Amino acid sequence: MRQESDILVDNFGRTVNYVRISVTDRCDFRCVYCMDEEMQFVPRAKLLSLEEIAIIAEAFTELGVGKIRITGGEPLIRRNIAKLFRDIGELDGLEELLLTTNGSQLPKLAGELKDAGVKRINISLDSLDPDKFRRLTRVGELGKVLAGIDAAEAAGFEKIKINSVILKNRNDDEILDLVGFASARGMDISFIEEMPLGVIGDHDREEAYYSSDEIRADLEQRYSLLPTTESTGGPSRYYRIVETGTRVGFISPHSHNFCDSCNRVRLTCEGRLLLCLGQEHSVDLRQVIRTHPGDKDKLKQALRASMDIKPKGHDFDLSVKPVIFRHMNMTGG
Ligand code: SAM
Ligand code: SF4
Repeated sequence: MRQESDILVDNFGRTVNYVRISVTDRCDFRCVYCMDEEMQFVPRAKLLSLEEIAIIAEAFTELGVGKIRITGGEPLIRRNIAKLFRDIGELDGLEELLLTTNGSQLPKLAGELKDAGVKRINISLDSLDPDKFRRLTRVGELGKVLAGIDAAEAAGFEKIKINSVILKNRNDDEILDLVGFASARGMDISFIEEMPLGVIGDHDREEAYYSSDEIRADLEQRYSLLPTTESTGGPSRYYRIVETGTRVGFISPHSHNFCDSCNRVRLTCEGRLLLCLGQEHSVDLRQVIRTHPGDKDKLKQALRASMDIKPKGHDFDLSVKPVIFRHMNMTGG
């Protein structure tokens, strides 16, 4: 039985048992809602090494964190990333090792990731039309991502979920097709409302806002949706499509705030532990780990102390200019 001091509980009584780790801010795509066309990336010397990330992951699991998601930027473009998956996959106490990826590197890596213990993966896909896909990712090739999805299926992950960000007049006409794609392959799909993180220059976020309720209404023109109480421990609200059995999730930071049940924190690629996606409260774990190399107790002390500054929630507001200047690639969502 774990002692009180061995788990992470914040001042609002929320237990933190889920960590999302961004292993790089770099990416082979430049999605219009995530990044600006020109981006300054973190210099390599400032990045946590893969060994440092593994030690932080270990400290978290010793404090009751059972679920770790590797994300980015595009996590699979970081050199030797499979080793990190293997190291984290072996940690005692870890229940789930998860991945969020744009899919482009999966033809190369899917098998190794499955062998390292990854059971569920999320693959981002916002369009099934090559030109629109290119427009939304600025440089991405749809064919590569579809090959990545095929490779993930062949590798035999327990669950593959598609993540789609829907923008008005960009890809809102593809909602039914995306659900059809997921249904045909027996995959879940989640729709995410765009969050105002970082300056992006491509579109006006308020104008492009397409709410989860609008998406649901579009789906209900073709399908019957049954609300379910199922949860994967995240902010998604789930429905089942009666006709196909597909599970559809909605992540709705604007229309349905989910902060009360927040169970997660995020580690940026430069070692900043962010206590909330929509706020700047953070702890510099790189400094802790580099000042006290090999001292896991110091690290755990810092993790426990961080709970005192976990804020109550985000204050996302699309009608004002971004107040969070950090782009999504720093934290991986
Ligand atoms: N590169 C990987 C990918 O695209 O899946 C992992 C990192 S990406 C930042 C994680 C998720 O965040 C993706 O599903 C992406 O669509 C989503 N995302 C990026 N920027 C966003 C934003 N401003 N609002 C909402 N979701 C966003
Ligand atoms: Fe890259 Fe993912 Fe951001 Fe797209 S959403 S630019 S794939 S990090």
